[in-house]
Amino acid sequence: TGARGFLKGAAFDAADAKAQGIREDFPILTAGPTKQGAPLVYLDSAATSQKPRVVIDAIVDYYENTNANVHRSIHRLGEEATAALESGRAAVADYIGAASSREIIFTRGTTESFNLLASSLCRRLEAGDEIILSEMEHHANIVPWHMAAQNYGVVLKFLPLNEAGDLELSDLDRLLSPRTKLVSLTHISNLLGTINPIGQIAPMVHARGALLAVDAAQSLPHMPIDVKALGADFLAFSGHKAFAPMGIGCLYGRQELLESLPPWQGGGEMISAVGLHGFSVNELPWKFEAGTPHVEGVVGLEAALDYMQRLDPAWIDTWTASLAAYTIERLEAIPGVTVHGAPRLRAGLFPFTLDGVHAHDLAAFLDRGGIAVRAGKHCAHPLSDKLGLLSSCRVSFHAYSTRADADALIKRLTDAARRGA
Ligand code: PLP
Repeated sequence: TGARGFLKGAAFDAADAKAQGIREDFPILTAGPTKQGAPLVYLDSAATSQKPRVVIDAIVDYYENTNANVHRSIHRLGEEATAALESGRAAVADYIGAASSREIIFTRGTTESFNLLASSLCRRLEAGDEIILSEMEHHANIVPWHMAAQNYGVVLKFLPLNEAGDLELSDLDRLLSPRTKLVSLTHISNLLGTINPIGQIAPMVHARGALLAVDAAQSLPHMPIDVKALGADFLAFSGHKAFAPMGIGCLYGRQELLESLPPWQGGGEMISAVGLHGFSVNELPWKFEAGTPHVEGVVGLEAALDYMQRLDPAWIDTWTASLAAYTIERLEAIPGVTVHGAPRLRAGLFPFTLDGVHAHDLAAFLDRGGIAVRAGKHCAHPLSDKLGLLSSCRVSFHAYSTRADADALIKRLTDAARRGA
């Protein structure tokens, strides 16, 4: 299940105890039995994480004490709301190791970040310029580039993955050409859990004069992220997978690159002056943020990143990967159950199927036991198709996931295998 050390024995037990404590911070996980009558076993954190009390409280406090529109009010509340927005931006910059807050553009999430990047960057490219993606991308890092290919004539190339579910770096070397302008890759596959060696990929990309964009939707919630150590020129993530509310995310870009790109949406805030015959563009980062921003979301995001920092992102990675290894070992012992892919490095998520049972039926059976897993193609149709998976169930853990969660899944899946769901 991967070339890394997993927690075992007493170290596993200690981490499990820590996870049980973390669970207490999450109202939804401690609310008692679900409508199905069983305690909630939430194994769908890759789709969205649950929210800790500190994040919920920060949002309530914002609305009870601060709410106003930002940047354009001189009154006290307006200034406080603006300060809250810009404090959140500085917190994100700090969290991901950006050189300045100007490099942090707030978006609705990873999807919007890639739409911004694709539509803005590709206006600066020429027909025939090449962009390299991989076969394991989420649709958010495929479809905006397809649209750019249709609109601007850029050419998309795809890095294949091997049987185990890993990208081969020799293939990247082969695909890079003098026309490659950007390589845009996911840090962690949302279907297989593969952790891609972005730190090794970045110098290869830069040596050929291209830029690197990283989809950190699955990695930022689970491990320390440092844009400089990764060598990322752009990086996208969604707050909601990292304890923050939905509808807030970020596109990081190196300042000189963002400065060279045209704005993408027009409206208030992104301008410095407007006349009847034209406009001039505001400075970074507001140049890319047209309209009233999601201040409440930013407040929640700052609280979420602070909470994650206190949990220790490196610990989250180790714990969730160890819990996945524990679960995979036991699921593979159940007749008819297949866990797909065996990447060199796997995060705390993986897909599985049960012979003869459609993933949707299996997920519905698990749900009747209070166990939430995702079923389908997981917004990664090319990868699902390549793996020959019409549909699969996906388990994904977070810091609050415990051995009891894993054991509940193992038990119910054993029942399902016995009776064919
Ligand atoms: N990229 C990856 C790897 C993901 O897992 C997801 C969400 O599942 C996304 C992008 C899209 O994120 P969002 O829907 O928050 O924009």
